[in-house]
Formats: sequence, structure tokens, C-alpha cells
Amino acid sequence: MPTFTCPKCGSELAVKPGTQMAKCSFCGTISYIDRSSALFFYILPFDMDEGMVKSIFKRWTANPAHPKDMEGLAKITSVKKEYFPVFKFRRTVDGKEQVVVKPARGTLLPGMRNLIIPPGDMQIFDNKVSTAGAEVLHPDLGVDSYLSELPGDAIDQSVVYFPIYEISYTYKNREYAVVIDGISGNISATEEPTESSAKYGGVLALSFILGALGVVLGFFVMPIFFLLIVAGFLVGKILGHMVVKRKKVEGVQA
Ligand SMILES: [Zn+2]
Repeated sequence: MPTFTCPKCGSELAVKPGTQMAKCSFCGTISYIDRSSALFFYILPFDMDEGMVKSIFKRWTANPAHPKDMEGLAKITSVKKEYFPVFKFRRTVDGKEQVVVKPARGTLLPGMRNLIIPPGDMQIFDNKVSTAGAEVLHPDLGVDSYLSELPGDAIDQSVVYFPIYEISYTYKNREYAVVIDGISGNISATEEPTESSAKYGGVLALSFILGALGVVLGFFVMPIFFLLIVAGFLVGKILGHMVVKRKKVEGVQA
């Protein structure tokens, strides 16, 4: 087994096989052990509190790209305050320093590939640091999973715990989630209700109602009402097509 030294004080670290984290018995610094070296762990403080992220979310639901009733109907079901681990690679590319940030943990959370680490304010993650009541998610990916895709040459690399809020909400009996960056307040969503999808739902409902009416009236009243089934089909086809076309145009403009 190779030996690792503490990146802060240089003491030898006792690393249990199969673990990727080691705590220095001298200075208490926690480091991330990769095949090649021990990396510093850093942590970034939260700039946003829960009240701030809730009002960011509220403003986002009122965005014109969303259905008009979303602001009133979207209900927050949980707000999770978390530290998400990312690798911060400092590289030299064409003589200039460049920072590349990559998730250090497998995740389906939106926005984790686009986090931006602001300059300054990084604290070494040791046993004295405050996690501000946030749940700390630990890395489960190795640095080596990214080395082949990185540009330029390495200056150094570290693990940075990035502050995020994970908000779950319901809108019209469906569950959705967004992630809000705990520093910048940027909001990321995988899937969200849109104005066009609400219209499309309306068209489908109208089409279905006409079709169902046609069946009932045609059967019990007069066969002429069977024509409503055709009308329902046409409504679905024509209006549905218009809504989808509109959506595509909006996508181009955005
Ligand atoms: Zn140490």
C-alpha cells in the first residue's frame, strides 16, 4: 500500500484499505485519497438562507415560461440543505490558468455539471469547520475518472463541498424538483411545467371530451353525433400540432 502525507502538515496518514477519506491525527485535516495523492478538502460557506431560496423559487414559478397558475398552485414539499462534492481541477491551458469543475459524486440532480466556484472564501474542511446544519454528501467518484478528458496540464486538484438547496414541490398532483445554488442563487431543473405543455394537455382533454360525447350521444341519441368522434380527433390533430409548433418557435427564440 502506498503511503500518503497530509496536504496541510505533512504528517503520514494512516489510510484503511478501501477508504477514500483520511483524517490527519495531528492537525485534524480531512483529505481525499486518490491513487496518486492526498487531496485537500475545501468547503464553501452558504450565502443563501432558506428564506432567500424560497423567494427565488417563488419568483421562478411566476416566470412567463411557466403556466399562469403555477405560482399559486406549486407547493414546496421539502427543502434540503446539502453540501455536494465536486472536484476542482486547476490546469494550465495554452499558458493560462483554467479551472474545471466536475461532480465528485454520481447524481441525477440538475445543475451539478455547471457549478461555478467563486474566487475566495474557500475554507479547509477540517474538524473545526461548520457545515451550517447541511447534510454533507461524500464523493463516490475518483479523480482518475476525469483525468483523460481534462484540457492542458495539472496545477493541482481538490475536493470542494459546494452548498446547494434541493427543493421538491408538487404542481397539479405531480412531483418536481429543482436545485438552487447556495452561493449564486441560480436555479436548475430537470423537468418543469411549461406553458405549452399545459396548453397541449388542454387540447388533449378537449379532444377526449368530444370523442367521449360522440360515443355517448351517437349511441343513445342519434347516430349523427358519432361525427363528434371525428371532430375530437381533428381537434387533437390540428390544435395539438399548432401548440407543438408554437412550442418549437418559442424554443428557437429562447
Ligand atoms: Zn495534518
